[in-house]
Amino acid sequence: MISKHARLIFACALTFAAVCLPALAQDNPLLAPYTTPYQTPPFDKIQNAHFIPAVQEAIKLHDAEIQSIADNPAAATFDNTITAMDMAGELLSNVTGVFYSLSGTMNSPEIQDIAKQLSPLLSAHNDNIWLNEKLFARVKNVYDRRSSLKLSAEQLYLLGNMYRDFVRRGALLNEEQKARLREINQESSLLGLKFRNNNLTETNESYIVIDDTADLAGLPDNIVAMGADDARIKNLPGKWVFTAQRPSWTPFLQYADNRKLRQKLYTAYAMHCNRDNDYDNKGLLQKLFVLREERCRLLGHRIPATFYLEDRMAKTPEVVDSFLWKLWQPALKRAKAELAEMQAIADREKAGIKLESWDWWYYAEKLRKEKYDLDDAALRPYFSTANVEKGIFLLAEKLYGLGFVERKDIPIYHPEVKVYEVRESNGKAIGLLYTDFFPRESKGSGAWSGSFRSSFMRDGKRVIPLATVVCNSSKPTATTPSLLSIDEAKTVFHEFGHALNTLLSTAAYRSEYAQQDAVELPSQIMENWVLEPEFLKLYARHYQTGEIIPLDMVERLKNSYLFNKGFESTEYLAACFLDMAWHELESAKDMNVTEFEAKAMADIGLIPEILPRYHSVYFGHMMGGYSAGYYSYNWAGVLDADAFEAFKETSLFDKKMATAFRKNILERLGTEDAMTLYKRFRGREPKVEPFLERNGLL
Ligand SMILES: [Zn+2]
Repeated sequence: MISKHARLIFACALTFAAVCLPALAQDNPLLAPYTTPYQTPPFDKIQNAHFIPAVQEAIKLHDAEIQSIADNPAAATFDNTITAMDMAGELLSNVTGVFYSLSGTMNSPEIQDIAKQLSPLLSAHNDNIWLNEKLFARVKNVYDRRSSLKLSAEQLYLLGNMYRDFVRRGALLNEEQKARLREINQESSLLGLKFRNNNLTETNESYIVIDDTADLAGLPDNIVAMGADDARIKNLPGKWVFTAQRPSWTPFLQYADNRKLRQKLYTAYAMHCNRDNDYDNKGLLQKLFVLREERCRLLGHRIPATFYLEDRMAKTPEVVDSFLWKLWQPALKRAKAELAEMQAIADREKAGIKLESWDWWYYAEKLRKEKYDLDDAALRPYFSTANVEKGIFLLAEKLYGLGFVERKDIPIYHPEVKVYEVRESNGKAIGLLYTDFFPRESKGSGAWSGSFRSSFMRDGKRVIPLATVVCNSSKPTATTPSLLSIDEAKTVFHEFGHALNTLLSTAAYRSEYAQQDAVELPSQIMENWVLEPEFLKLYARHYQTGEIIPLDMVERLKNSYLFNKGFESTEYLAACFLDMAWHELESAKDMNVTEFEAKAMADIGLIPEILPRYHSVYFGHMMGGYSAGYYSYNWAGVLDADAFEAFKETSLFDKKMATAFRKNILERLGTEDAMTLYKRFRGREPKVEPFLERNGLL
């Protein structure tokens, strides 16, 4: 996934910042100009106590900038209004960029408390901008004259989006409606925050403790070692702990012979935030949707889905629904066939059980061994984090001529973080990449890519972007380095693709308007290379012997590409339908969350052996940029499968094709309409067939 920190719209010209920097700046490293290499955040100096005063000062500065744009006696022009707004608030987005990155990676009760205090401040501040009538009048003035202004495609795209943003945030409403909208925004932002914090707390609370070695039967040594490490962290030396974090949860379900314990851990995860305790998200979610519906109605939409979709590639809920339905039946059919194959194994082994959802991973692993002669544990030694990291850098070098040099002199926020300077083939530095690979209690689950600063042009010079890649990969143990599953390796490539998008951007402006259902194209395309034999032999080496992954293993890996694809597609699509069901709801007022979800899943005919990838109560995507947008992964899947076909038609490392992808997509996504950019790269619209074929859905 990608989760850019909630981008604070506009930012401020440096000239303003230089003039207006408050006296506080001397004591607050967030407010003083960064004197680090490439002006990176001085994490060695930043303390939690700095955030609130820094945000308060940065808001004041941004307000002053906005006011001077609104009060400008000169007639509105693109430069004095649109460009000026784009440049305003830079300090604020730098400060919040640091804060929200840390709240994802270094969360603590103190950080949660700061977030709680910042949320209403920022929400009110944003509303002050979007609901500023004088400002909107100037934007509208420029927008209404856009066709006569001789603007570039990028400027027109920025102007159109900025105007629409004002409208979508209430600029056309009357005073009473605006006041209500402010209340809704305030309340929603706090509820959203609580939802995420509950999710983190409950994930950390969902684990099982094992004290009898017999209960470890079936688990590979490195997974047992990981369990022992996690027990030590929880002050339970001599025992083993398995948690709801994917690197612990998934292998336990794959290998543990003790079915009761599999059920226990599986259920611990599936029930988190749904235990009728202080961290239960059911009521909160319902409240949030009631507010969301009211906001959308105020803005002229009957249901939230039409509101969220209007600026995406898909444009309407009907298009999304019909897209999902097209994939659903073949996916479900495939999943049912997989289930039958697994049940046959259980029957043959005389297990005497009917498979349940907590058995899926365990029997899938048996099926993988039997059908493809592949064993996750035998593969992992070829995918150490160090080798996978070499792999991503090598791919970026082969495709785009990039080089990566570790910089140990740049301040980091945690000892596990590494920083790389990213260079063009001519040696010119174009950005910095921060990597943070392993889980810890303070880190949110999942994986994402973000930035402390995006790239843009200031006075004709490109500002160097600071991109991050954050994962929750399998940790090193006392005896082995971090050894990744294939899925984890793919995740690293995926997030690195997002980071390339940030690192290579040549956007002129700071405002980011990438269509949300296109942003997974740069990331997902990278996953295509991971298992290509020609590429595997360049990076997948055994961590102990240095031996290249054996050819027959590569062959078996390739054959197993469709392994468990029915399950993966089904649990994913079920969550997409769930997300759409919530956003197509007219009123959540009197609903029962559990019954609503059950009905939504019954409506599509989901089988009980598979749960949606996320239950509503911990479906974090619905909270942020992916509202009515979880479908985006498959939507962008159509784009990335079609784009990768272009490489397969020529060569996997075809320079010409790579350059076209870089110039039209990686550098430009978010500066023009995504379909226009795609057609410029491919010479035509994407075809759906490569995606269907890749996922066994034809
Ligand atoms: Zn992503």
